[in-house]
Amino acid sequence: MQDRYGREIDYLRISITDRCNLRCRYCMPEDIESFKMSEILTFEEIISIVTEAAKLGIKKIKITGGEPLVRRGACDLIRMIKRIPGIEQVTLTTNGVLLKDNLAEIKDAGIDGINISIDTPDRERYRSLTGRDELDRVLEGLWAALQSGIKIKINSVCPDIDGSQDLSDVFSMIGFAKDNPVDVRFIEMMPIGFGKDFRAIGHDILIPAIRERYPDMTKDNESHGNGPAVYYRIPGYKGSVGFISAIHGVFCQSCNRVRLTTLGYMKSCLCFETGVDLKSIIRSGLSEEDKKKALRAGIEEAILCKPAQHSFDNLKRISEKHVMAAIGG
Ligand code: SAM
Ligand code: SF4
Repeated sequence: MQDRYGREIDYLRISITDRCNLRCRYCMPEDIESFKMSEILTFEEIISIVTEAAKLGIKKIKITGGEPLVRRGACDLIRMIKRIPGIEQVTLTTNGVLLKDNLAEIKDAGIDGINISIDTPDRERYRSLTGRDELDRVLEGLWAALQSGIKIKINSVCPDIDGSQDLSDVFSMIGFAKDNPVDVRFIEMMPIGFGKDFRAIGHDILIPAIRERYPDMTKDNESHGNGPAVYYRIPGYKGSVGFISAIHGVFCQSCNRVRLTTLGYMKSCLCFETGVDLKSIIRSGLSEEDKKKALRAGIEEAILCKPAQHSFDNLKRISEKHVMAAIGG
């Protein structure tokens, strides 16, 4: 369905857990308390919401978290969502730690694409940033995924770990696109959760520096997926380089999404708390038919509440208080 600004909303991101096996400093502190299992949506509840959302025109689903692969049965959920009438595409965003172990099952479930988050290809900096020495396992997952035939994207938020604005990690990350048909995407750090106080390299610095290194880089107008990324091709590279510039690029006019948090709240925009509590509708004891109707009304309301654009340039106006792991990125 369309929102108040005529944007077609056909994409739903679902955070299926707030738990994670990493502790990226901009996302989750070591001692964070997780929600109780009874507070988070069951798979059955997620399926009910997606089924009603599909009737309103949601066609594409992203499974995210926290780390989605730490939730038992994540692959079964992918399989179940793939079977919902109207759902055309299910993709996954993962940190990659458990990817190799789960890859066969994920593929068998029918996944349409996997985004793997790797902020630095340097083992020591990775350990320092994520609190865990897991880069080797992540890279094993990445190589296995690249060989599996599944469409793969790499996401990086370009942390400025030591405050030097050193871009060597950025250029190493672009190196993955040289011999592999992979989109390497740089996501600008958003002032949400712990990201507010974390230093990262802004795209006002990053994009000109990459252009200078690769002056032959040309804009790629082909569609690469659901999101606001702008893609470029470097001559001789099998993959591409993408930018999701939440701060230095305004892309809200083509926003196509809503988000379902781990607690079952449908968020209208990443920046604001506005949305609808679908969990209380689902758990209100209504009859099946009334519940379906109320869910559709709730989803419609969340879509119609979408603001024209975010306010990441004005910290005072950001009302979102949750950590990114509960929202799903
Ligand atoms: N654990 C999975 C992962 O890391 O890919 C999925 C969840 S994670 C919240 C999804 C994405 O959000 C990751 O690529 C992460 O780097 C990104 N992210 C987290 N906090 C962010 C922030 N404040 N601004 C921009 N991206 C952020
Ligand atoms: Fe975990 Fe992903 Fe957050 Fe890192 S960004 S702590 S991997 S949920």
